[in-house]
Amino acid sequence: MRSISIFGATGSIGESAFDLLMGSGGPEAWRTVALTGGRNVARLAEMARALRAEIAVIADEALLPDLRAALAGTGTEAAAGTQAIAEAADRAADWSLSAIVGAAGLAPGLRVVERGGTLALANKESLVAAGRLLMGTAQRTGATILPVDSEHSAVFQCLEGGKLEGVELVTLTASGGAFRDWPLERLPHATVAEASSHPNWAMGQRITIDSASMFNKALEVIEAHEFFGLPGERIEVLVHPESIVHALVSYIDGGTLAHLGPPDMRHAIGHALHWPRREKLPLARLNLAAQGSLTFRAPCETRWPALALARQVIAQGGAAGAVLNAAKEQALDDFIAGRIRFTDMAGAVAHALDLAAGRPGFGASPDSLEAVLDWDAQARRDAAAWQTAAA
Ligand code: NAD
Ligand code: MG
Repeated sequence: MRSISIFGATGSIGESAFDLLMGSGGPEAWRTVALTGGRNVARLAEMARALRAEIAVIADEALLPDLRAALAGTGTEAAAGTQAIAEAADRAADWSLSAIVGAAGLAPGLRVVERGGTLALANKESLVAAGRLLMGTAQRTGATILPVDSEHSAVFQCLEGGKLEGVELVTLTASGGAFRDWPLERLPHATVAEASSHPNWAMGQRITIDSASMFNKALEVIEAHEFFGLPGERIEVLVHPESIVHALVSYIDGGTLAHLGPPDMRHAIGHALHWPRREKLPLARLNLAAQGSLTFRAPCETRWPALALARQVIAQGGAAGAVLNAAKEQALDDFIAGRIRFTDMAGAVAHALDLAAGRPGFGASPDSLEAVLDWDAQARRDAAAWQTAAA
């Protein structure tokens, strides 16, 4: 029986993984070690009961008594706090899913990699903020990192497990998000509600807004650079409103392989869950005749300045990824809270990157979690200050 852990079980990715596990035998087929959630005690406890988890951890320490009460009599241990989440990652599980949103996902993922485990990585922020650290640690410990982001899973599948030989170019597709067809002059007035509705994918609110701003694709370009070791010039973005083709890999002989599928994250999660085998998954099949047509266009960098910031970060290297990720998280918080406009987010991130580039040590990749978090904290302060300066 394989053992699994899910970090961020109560989120959109976590729910999809839970659905796959319950649909493929549940606790009779899988031994669940740890499940973690942010604040949703009731749902976390429900999942822990259903999968008979060894331990359930809630991020908010004030909720520990509630979690204990909800798990009374189940045999599942209750714990709380970010330290407890990191410690849960030390518990041996054959397969761990990193599905916490934001930089908070880095610590548990790194702990899985440090003990040489298999990490299915949905948390792209880990690779953006600490790509060298995560990949370097995996190399040292023999850990396996499997991509769960749909585009990266698609590339991985086209590469048959990551072989880069003969690859000329990798193309990540982007739906274009909520504002793909909005007139540019309307963008500064976009509301949080408008930015939170995605045309194709049902996802957490933060990544949905990041799709509208293209910061999600910016993170993914950096993620692809870190994960596959490709230079920035060989990673392209293509707007594809239907979200059927997830990525393309082009070879030096002029051939291109594409990965297609309906927009459902359970495919990428299930692929990572069963890798290196393929298992039958209870998902809708592609019907291209019903689909009729697939369309593509080049992304407009005026509409989506985040894409140029991703290129800048790859060229800068060092701490730039940690800075971009944290500044983006701060800018997103500020947009959601109504402190800045939608179109201000890119400016706040660019500002934090400019300030960081003048600080000592910027050119070196952070070599510890603490170093990443130092750059992260400074970048959040810088991005937040830009908002005050600009107001
Ligand atoms: P979500 O907001 O739906 O869920 C996030 C999970 O993390 C929840 O369990 C939440 O309780 C937990 N969490 C939030 N803040 C936390 C903190 N500070 N400490 C501990 N736990 C915390 O997010 P999501 O859409 O499921 O995305 C999760 C990750 O997967 C993100 O990194 C995202 O970029 C990535 N991803 C998501 C999708 C998608 O379709 N949703 C696709 C590709 C990649
Ligand atoms: Mg993606």
